[in-house]
Amino acid sequence: VFLKSCNNGFFDYNQHVHHDHHDGHRVNLAKQLIGEALRERVESIDHELCEPGEEDTFFVADLGEVYRQHLRWKLNLPRVKPFYAVKCNPDPKLLELLSALGTGFDCASKAEIEQVLGLGVDPSRIIYAQPCKTNSYVRYVASQGVRQMTFDNADELRKIARLFPGAELFLRILTDDSSSLCRLSLKFGASLDSTDGLLALARELGLNVVGVSFHVGSGASDPGAFLKAVQDAHVVFQQAASHGFCLKTLDVGGGFCSDSSFEQMAGVLRAALDEYFPAHSGVNLIAEPGRYYASSAFTLACNVIARRTIEDVSSASYMLYVNDGLYGNFSSIMFDHQHPVAKVLRCGGRTLYNTPAAEASDGPGCIEYSIWGPTCDGIDRITESIRFAQLLDVGDWLYFEDMGAYTKCSATTFNGFTNSHDVIYVCSEPGAKALLGMP
Ligand code: PLP
Repeated sequence: VFLKSCNNGFFDYNQHVHHDHHDGHRVNLAKQLIGEALRERVESIDHELCEPGEEDTFFVADLGEVYRQHLRWKLNLPRVKPFYAVKCNPDPKLLELLSALGTGFDCASKAEIEQVLGLGVDPSRIIYAQPCKTNSYVRYVASQGVRQMTFDNADELRKIARLFPGAELFLRILTDDSSSLCRLSLKFGASLDSTDGLLALARELGLNVVGVSFHVGSGASDPGAFLKAVQDAHVVFQQAASHGFCLKTLDVGGGFCSDSSFEQMAGVLRAALDEYFPAHSGVNLIAEPGRYYASSAFTLACNVIARRTIEDVSSASYMLYVNDGLYGNFSSIMFDHQHPVAKVLRCGGRTLYNTPAAEASDGPGCIEYSIWGPTCDGIDRITESIRFAQLLDVGDWLYFEDMGAYTKCSATTFNGFTNSHDVIYVCSEPGAKALLGMP
């Protein structure tokens, strides 16, 4: 299916590109499929009789959403080839679909590279985008033919000269990431005063610098950061030429959100690329989006395992304890500065997914809850305060949308809770189904 549907591994998006990702029909179908999967699972569990684990948290992933995000990318950044950042969510079906769509992959470790190569992806579609690499991993990628990798300092250049002199190197430059959710430039990136020296050293060591990369910070919100980074990259391309390197690729990194800010961000980036790296310059453009592809495709369902009633003079409020928390899939609260919003999936034997009754409400008579994870730690709190019209109790279910990015991948097993939860796959796009051979 993969080979038939793709042209040498590259998905022909021109056939599909007029599809609107906001298409109401598709969004309704997506909700319907996700709702059916959630309902079927939660209605099958009898809390009085089930075995430990049967009531565990689970995900529903709509691969159609990933497909729509890909079309949206192609519409907005047609010249930029995405290399999906595997760290964000290494879900095997997600990777399989992206592989079939012809994206590349940004990997940060041996295990990620192994997983992607295991899908049959050609090593040329992988960039080892970690400027400070483990020696044995560098030897591993050399043995596997994964040549593209980033660097941002002299020590790393000497390491690469020793272990993999044939690597194709991207000089990662520093960006202004002050408006992003997760800053990366505190840790990585060469300042513009150091790039000339690094290029001179690369030349002296006989290394092959082929491009420049940057990352404006994960969850970026200032499109100006992209413009400045593209301008800086352009300066480094010229510096490289003065050292005799003919750079052929610019990697604009990740940082793209999946909400409506994407179009604006992409618009500024597209204009900057057209000005500084126009099509006739012959420079290839790639990116490393993670969150953009994964976030909105995954919905998480959690079970209410315990409830504590807080009696007040006038009314009662409740502390709800669910079977997932900050040490689990809500690790995104801690590491990714997210604020997942609870909705009521099932209450008192009624499934409420995607109905007005599922939503939080401040209406008269609504009941206040705080929502806590299952571990013994006091920081394990998902929501400080939220109100619902429903009176929730043990055995009821909550759901959280947009839980695909930096969630499952950074979940721990603290307190003996599992961090490997089921994912139920649905697909609201026939094109994606065909690529995956799904019925
Ligand atoms: N590339 C690199 C080098 C990263 O460190 C990250 C995230 O930390 C990404 C890409 C993905 O970023 P995002 O999920 O914001 O697109």
